[in-house]
Amino acid sequence: MIKTLKVANIQEVHKVVAMATLYGLVTFVGVLYRREMIETDVAMLFLLLNILSASLLKPRNTYLMTIVGIVSFHYFILPDYSSFRFQNAQHIITFAVMAFSGIFASNITQSQRKQIDKNKRLQHRHKTNYQLARHLSALQTSQQIAQATIQFLRKEQALERQIYLAEPSWHLLAGSNENASPNVIGWLKERKTPPGMNAYWLNDSSETIGVLLVDADKELTVDPWVISLLSLSLTRSQATQALAEVEATSRMESMRTTLLASVSHDLKTPLGTIIGAATTLRDSSVKLADPVREELLISIAEQGERLNRSLTKLLDITRYSAGALVPKREWVEPEEVIGSALQRLSARVKHHKVRLISEPMLVELDSLLFEQVVSNLIENAAKYSPDQSEIEIRTDYRDGQFVLSVSDQGSGIPEEQLTKIFERFYRLENSAVDGTGLGLAICQVIVQAHHGEITANNREGGGSCFCVTIPCKLYDLRELYEQ
Ligand code: ADP
Repeated sequence: MIKTLKVANIQEVHKVVAMATLYGLVTFVGVLYRREMIETDVAMLFLLLNILSASLLKPRNTYLMTIVGIVSFHYFILPDYSSFRFQNAQHIITFAVMAFSGIFASNITQSQRKQIDKNKRLQHRHKTNYQLARHLSALQTSQQIAQATIQFLRKEQALERQIYLAEPSWHLLAGSNENASPNVIGWLKERKTPPGMNAYWLNDSSETIGVLLVDADKELTVDPWVISLLSLSLTRSQATQALAEVEATSRMESMRTTLLASVSHDLKTPLGTIIGAATTLRDSSVKLADPVREELLISIAEQGERLNRSLTKLLDITRYSAGALVPKREWVEPEEVIGSALQRLSARVKHHKVRLISEPMLVELDSLLFEQVVSNLIENAAKYSPDQSEIEIRTDYRDGQFVLSVSDQGSGIPEEQLTKIFERFYRLENSAVDGTGLGLAICQVIVQAHHGEITANNREGGGSCFCVTIPCKLYDLRELYEQ
């Protein structure tokens, strides 16, 4: 600011010197061509210089130049030359016109300059207000909006400011001073302005939603436009938040309904079979042949297992979705984990040919969660492909990522549903086999928790291929052998 003032002063001095030189030049020409020129010609030139001074110089300096002009004209141009004596009273009119031209031109220039300055200030205000409006409209939370406004006001005027919100109870949202004073909150609760401060109340259409408090020591005021913009933005963010909460509740509600529908179907079917078989077995009046009795017992065991699987998946998805799932990474040998998953699924894959293509390696994954992904994918491959067909499991490590693929020779998945099958409870319409529609959703949650990706594709010769990529560290096995 001080630097700008200094520069402006130096420029003014330069202009004054330039104008004084011009006045000197006109006087010189007037003296040199006294015989050829009449006095009025020189007076006209002085008038011209007065107007020029008014347009270039500050009023004070314009008046000074006008006086210099009149004095030079009187002393050098009018007879008696080089003296201030009057020869003719008419010259007073010439002096008056010269003086008036300076004053008049200076006044006009000044009012024009003021108007230009005012326009520039207005333009600047509109520009900054527009920038603030654009910035606020892109922000989501009340806190971000309040902080951005405080920062904006801080740039404009160096004042102490705080923004308080009324809901749920009066609290500090953002401020140049981060500490909320209990006294201030006491005043605000009574809708009174705390002493030593200016309060700008923020209202939506019907009630007060908050307040902007500004240190009252300074005489500066906050633009009412900023207050309206702040009120509007805060109201918008509160409405958006309320809407998001309603949406979350309704999503939860619809999830609960789906869950209930799925649970009742998936649990009721095996339960019905178990109850039916158990009742038949208990009925002493019914004589059952040994193979039938055996069959009933097998079906009880199978349906019990099915129940167990459905319940486990339901519990898993609920557990994983409740909080952020943080994998416990450790050095894992994928081949070993796949082996143990195959062991657990031996009954399910006994009619399939399983081919495992895997190099020995150690990668950093959560072994329990990884085993769950492998199990779900192998179980699906077996469920959705014909007996005696081949299930191929491959592991690899490429570009800092561990890659697992499970391919089968089943019916494949319609292209438009390749991403949908990862949604909770989503099942293909023609899925004849029992299931919950949760297996792939669980895989996705686990893989995403490892910052990885899971995708489904159809193989060229028929069947589908599920591919998991997880960024992770690879243990350099050479280190192990060198030891
Ligand atoms: P579930 O198998 O319990 O129904 P999933 O989430 O594991 O649930 O799978 C969702 C749906 O994706 C399945 O119902 C099935 O229609 C389809 N699907 C999953 N894996 C395969 C596969 N290997 N081949 C064909 N379809 C599959």
